[in-house]
Amino acid sequence: MRRAYLLRLWMGRNRRITMHFFCEQCKKEYPVATHSFQCECGGLFRLYQSAMDAKDVHDGVTLGEMPTPLLPRMMDGQRFYFKMEDRQPTGSFKDRGAKRLIGELAHIGIDKVALDTAGNAGAAVAAAGIACRVYVPDDVAAERVKQIAAYGADIVRVPNGRAHTMAMAQEELGDAYYASHIYNPLFIDGVKSMAYEIYDQLGGTVPDYIFVPIGNGTMLLGLYQGFEEIGRLPHFVGVQSTKCAPVVDAFHGFPRTPYRHTIAETIRVEEPPRMEAILWALRSSQGDAIAVEDGAILTAAKALGERGIYAELTAAAALAGARAFFAEGMPDNYRVIVPIPGSGLKR
Ligand SMILES: [Zn+2]
Repeated sequence: MRRAYLLRLWMGRNRRITMHFFCEQCKKEYPVATHSFQCECGGLFRLYQSAMDAKDVHDGVTLGEMPTPLLPRMMDGQRFYFKMEDRQPTGSFKDRGAKRLIGELAHIGIDKVALDTAGNAGAAVAAAGIACRVYVPDDVAAERVKQIAAYGADIVRVPNGRAHTMAMAQEELGDAYYASHIYNPLFIDGVKSMAYEIYDQLGGTVPDYIFVPIGNGTMLLGLYQGFEEIGRLPHFVGVQSTKCAPVVDAFHGFPRTPYRHTIAETIRVEEPPRMEAILWALRSSQGDAIAVEDGAILTAAKALGERGIYAELTAAAALAGARAFFAEGMPDNYRVIVPIPGSGLKR
């Protein structure tokens, strides 16, 4: 009933809801309550917020989140700042997106969602306390699935990889709202709080570089939007495994090679739906995209471990990328951020 009322409000002449989704291709507008997850033209949604909406965020949903530390650590004479997103309540940065998305859905009366995930997004959405069905590839680590189930979600295991898992979730949505961290722009909007935190922790300044591991690009796009609002972009360098590097290939115009299994499980995404936005974020920040060998990822994981950081291998990929990038040296005054997207305990 509430949904019908909101839709009528939306359609009415006195449009009182200004926040909405719009298609990034044809600009058609949709209410946030829409059960379409992309435009009828096939374009993906972006979020429109007026200055007034931006102050009127519905943050009634909490996962128990708090600002995460920004830890400076020396490695081979170079200082890196690690943004410790593994300290989020469910152990990954996805809590930021889930809080924002589920907070808004609770406000408009949506109480049932479904999503597909390699693990972290499913845990975050389930922990936000909404009825949810979570589709996971059947080769995802058992620990990840156990965690999602512990928060009370229904689990559906899907064979034949991540892309097929996504297709299944979309096909079987029924009356559930699609709480995808890839398709739903509110999720990405939540991640931008990470940019504001980094800015505050650096005394109100923007870092020089951020090395971002890229799977579907949720963290990069959230950071990009946050720093764009702040008014200045750091250089974003996207990092992928050489075994699955579609963004690196597209960024540099390399021919696509068949992708293989990489140990960095959560960034193993062969065709990120938001590829164009990812490339835009990297290019407009005068950034770069680099691929690292799985061996270098393991070496970086060891270096993190020696400093007391037990991270998801995506974090090690980002560090391996940063070390390769600055192999010839790093100016002393650079502030280089390496996010730790998730805890190693989730492997
Ligand atoms: Zn469209």
